[in-house]
Amino acid sequence: MEKKGILIVISGFSGAGKGTLVRELLRRYDEYALSVSMTTREPRAGERDGVEYFFTDRAHFEETIARGGLLEYAGYCGNYYGTPKVWVEEQLSAGRNVILEIEIQGALEIKEKFPESLLLFVTPPSAAELERRLTERKTESAEVIAKRLARAAEESEGVEAYDYIVVNDILEECAEEIHMLVDAARRAPVRRKELIGEIREELNRFAKGVQD
Ligand code: 5GP
Repeated sequence: MEKKGILIVISGFSGAGKGTLVRELLRRYDEYALSVSMTTREPRAGERDGVEYFFTDRAHFEETIARGGLLEYAGYCGNYYGTPKVWVEEQLSAGRNVILEIEIQGALEIKEKFPESLLLFVTPPSAAELERRLTERKTESAEVIAKRLARAAEESEGVEAYDYIVVNDILEECAEEIHMLVDAARRAPVRRKELIGEIREELNRFAKGVQD
């Protein structure tokens, strides 16, 4: 297998259970590393700076954009969110599969910059289940929930840009499914360029030997 890790984007409607799913994936397998994003959103109760996010203000976020410190960034429900660049590049070079848990605009930007990235979209089994999960977690006001549901409707239009859709019904099964997809993705020619290149070169040498 190639030494470089795969850049995996995991998106999904707010309330689809992406966070829990990613934690389950990290718990089960040690080949994944989760990128911690930078955001201008206020921390929720229990969120720690540098763990869930790097919390910052707009001025610092915009400075980071200006000096090219982000792989991608997007506006989401009135706040900025972005992926710090250096850490992700280091982890990929060290052979780890890096997970970006980001929304759709950022996902599309990543696919354009890194065509060999893998884009996964997580959805609950139904819209009603999504609404129920958002309401039950009690971390957002009714107004924010309404905003997030409206955003989900918009995002549902862009799902075709992803490589795979994963239905998050039973957590453990879903984590396993993602791991399986990543494993299969490793075997795609776009991610086996080194191997194909070596074989091709050798075959060409054989062919030349026959001709000479
Ligand atoms: P939340 O406020 O619920 O933590 O996140 C809101 C949305 O922002 C989620 O869809 C999440 O995946 C997305 N998000 C988190 N970090 C990033 C990031 O670095 N870049 C982009 N484009 N989206 C992000």
